[in-house]
Amino acid sequence: MADGSPIEWTEATWNPVTGCTKISPGCKHCYALRMSMRLQAMRQPNYRNGFDLTLQPQALELPLRWKKGRRIFVNSMSDLFHEGIPEEYIAQVFGVMHRAHWHQYQVLTKRSERLAEIAPRLEWRPNIWMGVSVERADYMYRIDDLRHTGARLKFLSLEPLLGPLPNVDLSGIDWVIVGGESGPGARPMDPNWVTEIRDQCRSARVAFFFKQWGGVRKKRTGRQLDGRTWDELPGIATQERAR
Ligand code: SF4
Repeated sequence: MADGSPIEWTEATWNPVTGCTKISPGCKHCYALRMSMRLQAMRQPNYRNGFDLTLQPQALELPLRWKKGRRIFVNSMSDLFHEGIPEEYIAQVFGVMHRAHWHQYQVLTKRSERLAEIAPRLEWRPNIWMGVSVERADYMYRIDDLRHTGARLKFLSLEPLLGPLPNVDLSGIDWVIVGGESGPGARPMDPNWVTEIRDQCRSARVAFFFKQWGGVRKKRTGRQLDGRTWDELPGIATQERAR
């Protein structure tokens, strides 16, 4: 678990599982894979298996030790709904999120089918934000899978955005994050794709967060859109509705 995070939309990370396997085009330049290999080379014990899926039960209760409430990205180095993670273990992670209820938890998956399958057996408290990643229009079905869960606050991570998404069904969605790919080999993002999504969010009154343009040097391209940053978070109204 790390207090503070370079990821713009969260405040801390907690990894009760590490490692994953690639599942769709958005995974091509997976940041977690690159970082895991680096941490393995540095002999960080949690990364002794590199990017192989590894449960980290010793990390399970860490949020309980953090007394000040934070927004925590759960499994930034894995995917909590990976087929190799036993359902009982996922339930244990949810159990900790219930007990350490003073934090907000951001869970993000590309495995929306497994999420949909398990969701009815999970308890969805208002402090658990559930999101799916969608990189291209042919993965929009993940949004329907998310919509049909009992998650009280639902969000989309459209990153790395690899194509236009002109008709996103935003019903029941509270928050949208958009970002371009960054790092070596980054695939380009057309600015029109971004403004199109921003405008859909505004019409649907959904909070919009623009993370970055990306590119090989993301500091250079920055995160301004139409002359300003977009750092909206799901609003009080949304959270009131979730209670
Ligand atoms: S699902 Fe996420 S963590 Fe897993 S390989 Fe793809 S991008 Fe990486």
